[in-house]
Amino acid sequence: METFDVAIVGGGPAGSSCAAFCALAGLRTLVLEREKFPREKVCGDCLNPSCWPVLERLDLAQQVRDLPHSRLDSVEFIAIGGHNVIIDLPTSDDCEISLKRSLFDDLLLRRARELGVQICEEATVTALAYNGDWKIATVHGETFLARVLIGADGRNSTVARLRNLMPRLARERVALQAHIPLPRNFGKRVVLQFLREGYSGQAPVNETELNLCLVGTPPTISRLRHWAERHFDITTSHPWRTITPLTRSPVPCAHKDLLFIGDAARVVEPFTGEGIYYALGSGELAANAITKIIRGEDRQLALREFIRASAEMYRGRLWINRLARAAVLAPRVGAFFVQAARFDPAILKVLTAKIVSPKL
Ligand SMILES: Cc1cc2nc3c(=O)[nH]c(=O)nc-3n(C[C@H](O)[C@H](O)[C@H](O)COP(=O)(O)OP(=O)(O)OC[C@H]3O[C@@H](n4cnc5c(N)ncnc54)[C@H](O)[C@@H]3O)c2cc1C
Repeated sequence: METFDVAIVGGGPAGSSCAAFCALAGLRTLVLEREKFPREKVCGDCLNPSCWPVLERLDLAQQVRDLPHSRLDSVEFIAIGGHNVIIDLPTSDDCEISLKRSLFDDLLLRRARELGVQICEEATVTALAYNGDWKIATVHGETFLARVLIGADGRNSTVARLRNLMPRLARERVALQAHIPLPRNFGKRVVLQFLREGYSGQAPVNETELNLCLVGTPPTISRLRHWAERHFDITTSHPWRTITPLTRSPVPCAHKDLLFIGDAARVVEPFTGEGIYYALGSGELAANAITKIIRGEDRQLALREFIRASAEMYRGRLWINRLARAAVLAPRVGAFFVQAARFDPAILKVLTAKIVSPKL
């Protein structure tokens, strides 16, 4: 049986980018993905401008721009009572866009395949054993061997669970997401709306569809859904996707021959729409570390550098995430923030600029 240099569990943005960068470095790379692509995923579908440099390095930026998308020109914060503040977004070529994850994730995975990565779809990983090399088993009874393993399998990471690394989850919130017909005159704005029961994110993903996300707690989520059905005139039978948790403690990202990237390593509050950037960025950083390990360079040094660079990527940004979480966990606080910003929008402008400014 062939031994891969690296096996990556999960073909989302973290897994695909890591796989593509590993293949570019000449590593024999395997991706095991649970779903058959293209597939949708619970997400606000907004691509933070920081993603562009990583996409350029994957030679994908133009192909992403060629997919159906919306160029977002402003963000509108709406308080519980309906008061709002609109902040303009930069509108350069490298601006914030929104596009369906089915299209974006499929493009990334196809790029990895094009670069020589072996990709197995509908291959849910169910068991792992480490004996100098990794033996990885899927639900259909196939087994694969690899020298390094990457957990890129999202916030409910099976790899972390199987290695007893998954933090205990507190009682958590839940998100619902749907694509619905784009309301007339919605424009090219992202809406972040505080509601008594949680919050809602809305963004047009093309000329005809709106991405609608709702975040609440298990007892309140059905009220949020009823609000959305009334507000957007959606039938009660409209299909919604769902996911939980919205927050959890990070999983340490580097172990012997095992690395975690993207949501599997650290889940960030969706409100600021940066998760895809962290997924792509950590995928590239992990590929750099694995390349050094496989080439026989100092393993400890490569892992330390990966840990340092990962921490650096989040540094100076987690406080924004904490602030966003505080605002959304207490929607009245968030609403107060929006009220205050109506009289002095400087704070929201600074925060928004920080979120949409290029990071790599
Ligand atoms: C409500 C909400 C809104 C959001 N909005 C935004 C936004 O607008 N912009 C933004 O940048 N981020 C947003 N995010 C965050 C973003 O969705 C994630 O950060 C991003 O998807 C992480 O990418 P990933 O590759 O780490 O994980 P994922 O995208 O979750 O990919 C993991 C992959 O692993 C596969 N997998 C899982 N288990 C297994 C297994 N056992 N075997 C094989 N494969 C497996 C899954 O099928 C999946 O394809 C949002 C999140 C939520 C919850």
